[in-house]
Amino acid sequence: MTSSPEQRVNFLGYTQGMWLELLEDLGEKPFHATQVMKWIHHRLLCDFEGMTDLSKKLRQHLMEYGCLTEPEVARELVSTDGTRKWLMRSLSGSLFETVYIPEEDRGTLCVSSQVGCALDCSFCSTGKQGFNSNLTTAEIIGQLRIARRRLAEVYPDRRRAVTNVVMMGMGEPLLNIDNVLPAAELMMDDLGYGISKRKVTVSTAGVVPGIEKLCESTDVSLAISLHAPNNELRDQLVPINKKYPLEQLLSVASRYARNLGEKRTITIEYTLMDGINDAREHAIQLSHLLRDFPCKINLIPFNPFPGAAYKRPSMAAVRGFQERLVGDGYSVTVRTTRGEDIQAACGQLVGEVADRTRRQAHYKKIQAGEIA
Ligand code: SAH
Repeated sequence: MTSSPEQRVNFLGYTQGMWLELLEDLGEKPFHATQVMKWIHHRLLCDFEGMTDLSKKLRQHLMEYGCLTEPEVARELVSTDGTRKWLMRSLSGSLFETVYIPEEDRGTLCVSSQVGCALDCSFCSTGKQGFNSNLTTAEIIGQLRIARRRLAEVYPDRRRAVTNVVMMGMGEPLLNIDNVLPAAELMMDDLGYGISKRKVTVSTAGVVPGIEKLCESTDVSLAISLHAPNNELRDQLVPINKKYPLEQLLSVASRYARNLGEKRTITIEYTLMDGINDAREHAIQLSHLLRDFPCKINLIPFNPFPGAAYKRPSMAAVRGFQERLVGDGYSVTVRTTRGEDIQAACGQLVGEVADRTRRQAHYKKIQAGEIA
């Protein structure tokens, strides 16, 4: 079973089910899945030689068949507020970003799912860079491994760790769902990274077929990037709304919310832009729109980037918007901006996308309904 380097699978992206299948094909016992996964995901090993409790024959097989290759770290930036950003190189050569945000009681890793993004939301700098490529499951998981290993090095007392993962980095996770779902599964699996399903969040701009697929296959936490309380405004800010308008989006999201059970809710993200979507009227409309929808609301004051056409509202305007919704009984948090000095805040992730034409072709296919 010898494979050429291009055909070799990257075992960092293998879920428990995939290991069991492979071991069966190799005529090996299923319990080896536990051993191998612990080496890979608990001990963060990147080679098979160190897996000392496996037979030499099995190690040899795995080495011939696949690899354990992480993305390469091109650069690490550390903000004055402790936020850390890694610029990573995908196996295809493009650069993407991962951000670690330390807080009092937790540490959140903001993971990318694509290099660039095809959706072109008018206020997001990643969108302005265009779409380049999907990240593989191994590249998504690789971001978590690199962060865990690096934080353990920098903080030997384990003061800082990754307790939460949000797929809110570059890209639209649900347009790369085939790689994102196994990555989320590995993050939540005890033989993987053992993070609670409440603390692994997939965020979407509203890819309805993707949410339908989530309903069938997972109970990972979900965030919806809403940003507008009516279709007219949302069409301008989040163009995918033209394909999947608010009614459709909230209907499928409600179905997903029912899957999560009574104790968990969906997060609604709402980026506030001065004079665009932050008026009293918008808060009233939003409150009305979400009246039957079990959710908590997260307000994100707009993060500026070079060339952006929007401004951040005053803190008083943000608080006013929040209070109106709280008055109607919603649970509303305001996201504090972190890592601005290293361009690590929401919507400031850029990476490096060389090929814009591919993004245009990809977006046309989405518009034409050829891609979900
Ligand atoms: N594509 C996914 C995940 C990426 S972005 C999604 O749309 O949900 C994570 C969040 O940051 C989204 O809610 C996104 O709309 C928001 N965001 C993007 N640009 C921003 C900016 N400049 N300022 C504040 N929030 C922004």
